[in-house]
Formats: sequence, C-alpha cells, structure tokens
Amino acid sequence: MTAAAHRAFDVLVVGAGVAGTTAAIQLARGGWSVALVERQPFPRRKVCGACVAASNLPLLQALGVGDAFQASAGPELRRVALLHGDGSAEADLPAAPAGQPAWGRALGRETLDALLLAQARAAGATVFQPWAVQALLGAPGAWHCELRGQASAALLRLRARLVVDAHGSWEALPTDRPRRRHARSASDLFAFQAAFTGGALPAGAISVLALEGGYGGMVVADAGATTVACCIRRDRLHALRGAAPGLRAGDAVEAWLRRSCTGVQRALQGAVRDGPWLTAGPLDPGVHLHGEDGIFRVGNAAGEAHPILGEGMSMALQSGAMLAALLLGSGGTSPVPSGRAQAALVRAHAAAWRQAFVPRLRLAAVFAHLAMRPRGAAALLCVVRLWPGLLTQGARWGGKVRMAALPAMAQHAPSNDVGIAARRPPSEGPA
Ligand SMILES: Cc1cc2nc3c(=O)[nH]c(=O)nc-3n(C[C@H](O)[C@H](O)[C@H](O)COP(=O)(O)OP(=O)(O)OC[C@H]3O[C@@H](n4cnc5c(N)ncnc54)[C@H](O)[C@@H]3O)c2cc1C
Repeated sequence: MTAAAHRAFDVLVVGAGVAGTTAAIQLARGGWSVALVERQPFPRRKVCGACVAASNLPLLQALGVGDAFQASAGPELRRVALLHGDGSAEADLPAAPAGQPAWGRALGRETLDALLLAQARAAGATVFQPWAVQALLGAPGAWHCELRGQASAALLRLRARLVVDAHGSWEALPTDRPRRRHARSASDLFAFQAAFTGGALPAGAISVLALEGGYGGMVVADAGATTVACCIRRDRLHALRGAAPGLRAGDAVEAWLRRSCTGVQRALQGAVRDGPWLTAGPLDPGVHLHGEDGIFRVGNAAGEAHPILGEGMSMALQSGAMLAALLLGSGGTSPVPSGRAQAALVRAHAAAWRQAFVPRLRLAAVFAHLAMRPRGAAALLCVVRLWPGLLTQGARWGGKVRMAALPAMAQHAPSNDVGIAARRPPSEGPA
C-alpha cells in the first residue's frame, strides 16, 4: 500500500489477527470507513494450537469464511484426551447444538488469518500491511495515529474517530498501561509451537498435555499436520537449556516433551518437523481492559486466558463480533458515536466482555495450575479416569459449544437511536 498522508477514517483497527479482522469486517459492512493496520506480512505462522471450537463456526460463516474453513481445516474434533507421563484418559467432546456444525476443527493461523483478512478487504476495509502503529495521540472522536512501514520504514499519519486495539498480547502499544508485572519471575510462561508431518497422532482428538512445569496440546490440523503447542515455566526452560548447552530453545523443549510424555513420543515417532519452533512470551494471563484512554480492546489485547483450553481464538473472534454489534446497534448501521458517547460504550463493552469471558479465564487458570504440578496432574488424571464425563463437561464450561459473547451482548447493545451517550453503562455482571 502506498503512503497517503493524513487520511481520515471512522475507525482504526490495530492488528489483523482473528479479533481485529472480525471487528473490521463487521464495521466495514455496517458502512464505516475502516483502516486495518497489520505489522506482519501474511501468510504468517503464529504460536497457536490452531483449534477452532465449534461455538465459532456460525460466526465464521457469517464473516464469509465458513465454507473455506470447512474446505481446508483438519478433521472434526470429537474426542479429548488428557495425557500425563505415561498415563492417559479420554472422553467425548460435547457436540454443538443442532442446526450448526457439531464439531470444532483445527486450521493453521497462516491460513485462517489470511482468509479473514481477505474478507475484511472485500468488505471495504483499507488494509495497511506491513505497517505498525507506533503512536496514538488524541482522544475518542479525534485520534491521530502514526504508522511505520515495516518494509520501507516510511511514516504515515492517519486520523480516526474511534480506535479498536486488537494487537494481541506479545508486544506493547504506546498507549498500553504498564503491565502489572515488570520483574521477571520463575513462573513466567513461554509459549512454543511447531507443526509436524508424518506423525501418528489419532485424528479427531485434542490431546491436552499435563507436564511438570508446563502444559500443552496436540491436534491433527489442516493437510494432516500435527500441531504441537505448549507453555513452559521460565525456570523449567532455564534448567532444560542449562542441561543441554548449545541446543536451541525449541529443540530443548521438543526433547522435554518427548521425554516427559509417552503420548507425545508416540505421536511424533517418525514425524518430521515443518520449519523451526516458534516461540513467544511471556504470557500475561488475566483481564487487560481499562477504559481510561477511551480505546476499545478486543481479543488478547482485552484479556488473555491460559491457552490450556484452546479458547483464545473463540474469545478473540467473539469479542470482535461483540464490539461491532455494540457499536453498530441493533440495526447494524449506527453512525460513529461521538467522543463523549464512546466513553459510555467503552464501559459497556468492558462489562459485557467480563460477563462473557471472565469465567473462562478462571476455569483455564485453575486447570493450567493443576496440570503444571506433578501432584495436581496425577490427581486430575485419576479423577478423569474415574469420571471421563468431567472432561466433556469441562469443555462445555470452557466454551467449546456455546458462543458466549453475542447473547451476552444483547443485554448491552444500545438501540439504534442517538441516545447512546445518555445511556447508563450496565454494572459489571457476575464473573
Ligand atoms: C501455546 C498457545 C496455544 C494456543 N492454542 C490455541 C488454540 O488451539 N485455540 C485457540 O482458540 N486459541 C489458542 N491460543 C490462543 C490464541 O492464539 C490467541 O488467543 C489469539 O491469537 C488472539 O487473537 P488476537 O486477534 O487477539 O491476537 P493475535 O492473533 O495475536 O493478533 C494480533 C495481531 O496484531 C499485530 N500487531 C501487533 N502489534 C501491532 C502494531 N503495533 N501495529 C500493527 N499490528 C500489530 C500482530 O502482528 C498480530 O498479527 C493459543 C495460544 C498459545 C500461546
């Protein structure tokens, strides 16, 4: 895209991951002029387990990528297994309600994100890629944004009336509030991901790995690739690297996965890794919403769950759609709210977000902390061997089949009239 100085848009969306593209598609369809800024060229790999829960499939259909998703994703995911050491327990995944696709599937982010970005373009969004948002000045109603070209280092300035932050969780935006935790901690979690061909993992099941000092997951995704993604504590990673000097971090992690879990060893026997391990981190699980700056946040920029339940993309997709529904009102075509009205809407969005997603964050945190401790993992395995239905129920609670965001949003969506600013923001819902 060539630079044009001081172009003006209704909305600037920062980041073209699943949250940003979802919001961009819906807002562009609602008649808003949308600038969608993405730092990286696509297609790009991402540290992600690639599992898309069944709860999202109607939304993907509505966004215009449902058929392409079904045509390219991996096999239907009907089972879930918990693997720890040389033990395992398995259960059925819950099916989504009749009338929609029953099962989730896995699709690499290099494909899914590119599909969504193409839809955003088709809906009329102007895509700036690869450009990074490096400064955001101003206030709701009158934002000034500075973009830096990643290929050319050129500078570009845009104006926007509203800003949606969908930049994920791996880097800071200039507007970000300083993160809670500055000091490095032994319990920081680093994420790793790689795909393999020729593996022996049974198709159609999500394998959840409970590891000493970490957790992870394996699944057969598109083109038969086995995706392995995991999180490992800083102290564990440090010890692994100390014990094998010269080994790259990803290779040390792969050796650890194979050594500590028989299920991984079996699944990757004879498999060939496609490219290097990707890494990111440290994770910062929890709610990151704050309304003081008048910026709307979606996806991981709003809050991050421990990825043990594989629900981050659900939260990103659904929060992008939830925000667009709030901003566009019940008729789907509301004008861009004034700066004053945006303050109330930021609070309404935050309340709806918390109501929809905080329970998932908590469930994922409990499960992650149990899985990372040897005694907790052994107890968990024991319990789910006795009551496999608990895994099924856990998946249901975690959001695998129920789309939490849009029904919750209905309570908060303003009517299509202009009285948005006068509306009292709802109080925060129960967690
Ligand atoms: C190990 C692991 C496994 C996971 N497995 C799963 C799983 O199986 N299923 C699942 O649902 N979820 C999973 N997740 C979670 C999921 O990956 C995230 O929740 C999801 O990617 C969040 O989407 P997002 O759109 O908010 O952010 P992202 O997908 O991170 O997208 C943000 C985008 O913003 C861009 N960006 C950043 N800064 C700027 C800037 N300044 N200017 C312009 N662009 C910028 C980035 O380049 C990026 O493309 C996993 C996460 C981890 C760590």
